[in-house]
Amino acid sequence: MHNLVIIGGGPAGLTAGLYAGRAMLEPILLERLSPGGQVLTTNWVENYPGFPGGVGGFDLMDRMKSQAEEFGLKIISTEVKSIVKESGYFSLQTDSQEFKAKAVILAMGASPKKLHIPGEELLTGKGVSYCATCDGFFYRDQEVAVIGGGDTAIEEALFLTRFCSKVHVIHRRDRLRAIRVLQERAFKEPKIEFIWNTIPLKILGNDQVQGLLLRDLKSQREQELKVQGVFVFIGYAPNSAMVKDLVELDQMGFVITDADMRTSQEGMFAAGDIRAKSLRQISTAVGDGAIAANSALRYLEGY
Ligand code: NAP
Repeated sequence: MHNLVIIGGGPAGLTAGLYAGRAMLEPILLERLSPGGQVLTTNWVENYPGFPGGVGGFDLMDRMKSQAEEFGLKIISTEVKSIVKESGYFSLQTDSQEFKAKAVILAMGASPKKLHIPGEELLTGKGVSYCATCDGFFYRDQEVAVIGGGDTAIEEALFLTRFCSKVHVIHRRDRLRAIRVLQERAFKEPKIEFIWNTIPLKILGNDQVQGLLLRDLKSQREQELKVQGVFVFIGYAPNSAMVKDLVELDQMGFVITDADMRTSQEGMFAAGDIRAKSLRQISTAVGDGAIAANSALRYLEGY
């Protein structure tokens, strides 16, 4: 029986592991891919404190992993398939074995929804991005496209106007889903140009994004748009399906916690992007992870 099992090896999970390791809980972390999470898809991180000039996404996560391991975090490469609450403990099932834990931290993150069009996967990190806060700066004085018409797309399009010479917002309908206040700001912004009733068919380029092939859904006409960056904001999906019957989720499937990262299930905590919150960043995931580990410690020690 383990004291604490952390599921997910992004910044939240690794920080929870670091704090739980230092608290001598002998935590284990189960990660289906390599530790690092979504940060691994970001080439260069310039907004994580402590690294003037920035740090590579891989390098940052490698450092977090090493630091957590220094304090005894054991990382196991395996995918948790199901979790069941037994009397007084949790049973986590993988393909090959069962892990028993008195406490669990959910740090499985959220995944940006993909367009699933040709060029998207090939050019991710080479002009295709799912995070304007992370990558917008690289497009100084360049033209980019934003796909989507929701709050995230419009908020991020507005953010991108700080850097870019032009932001083309491509939306599949003729009305935005985003709240009115954002719409009004976007309509007033001279750097934003809307392309309505249009979907992207293909992202063009071999080593770097060179443009987009678009289809107008009304005329069925296809046209190429020359852009250096494509930002996809068509929604986020929390990786919470496995715990939907165990903890309370919000309408979008994010795990609801209190300020101490406690979920509605006793002994189960959540940290990072999987959690219902307003800002999903490495720095906020790290904070969540520290709090979740501390709350797990208090739970295990009965105070
Ligand atoms: P969202 O509200 O689900 O909007 C997704 C947008 O992408 C919609 O405009 C949708 O078009 C479009 N879309 C979806 N699939 C597409 C596809 N395959 N191809 C092209 N376009 C596609 O997602 P979100 O903007 O990330 O927001 C998620 C939630 O967070 C929302 O509840 C939002 O209110 C909230 N949020 C709030 C704030 C804020 O309050 N400041 C900021 C960000 C997000 P349709 O409109 O045609 O469906």
